[in-house]
Amino acid sequence: MGTSELKNMNIYIALGSNLKNPEKQIIKALQDIAKIKDFAMIDYSSLYQSRPLDNMAQPDYINSVCQIKTNLEPFALLAVLQQMEQTAGREQNKKKWSSRILDLDILLIDNKQINDKNLIVPHNQMLQRNFVIIPLYEIAPNLTIKLCKKQLLLKPLALKLMKSPNRCKRLYRPTI
Ligand code: ADP
Ligand code: MG
Repeated sequence: MGTSELKNMNIYIALGSNLKNPEKQIIKALQDIAKIKDFAMIDYSSLYQSRPLDNMAQPDYINSVCQIKTNLEPFALLAVLQQMEQTAGREQNKKKWSSRILDLDILLIDNKQINDKNLIVPHNQMLQRNFVIIPLYEIAPNLTIKLCKKQLLLKPLALKLMKSPNRCKRLYRPTI
């Protein structure tokens, strides 16, 4: 794929944190993403507060979603995000769903579909997660998501998840 093609792709990234002042971690991560020279920050959502998955005994999470453009190919983009997680102090090799200082997941890269052991796009859990879909809907209300051969409209899914009792709570949109 040519660089110019990638440049125009809409990339959505989910951010999450529930350790070491999560609100500050997410604002800092949004600021850092905006500063990375290979990225252009197009938009970002409000901060949302959510309970841990399965109501695990963990602190609440702060979540957000941002939209960027980049010339980096998908695996290089993943490497940049993983480096940011490390720099924030995230410990490696911890159990799935354990508390974390910073989690950066690639949700969508335009309509691309990637099925690699290190990278699955669209993100394989995103449709089930209200704390991903609700902030995504805030910045991309008319989005369609391509899954295999199907196109899924984001709006009805977001409206449904907004009614769920354990949905995330919108806090505010920070200035970055
Ligand atoms: P989770 O986000 O599910 O809690 P981790 O952040 O610990 O899990 O990521 C585990 C692995 O998920 C990473 O090593 C990465 O290679 C892989 N991965 C697969 N698809 C994606 C994606 N779309 N975005 C980010 N990481 C992904
Ligand atoms: Mg992750």
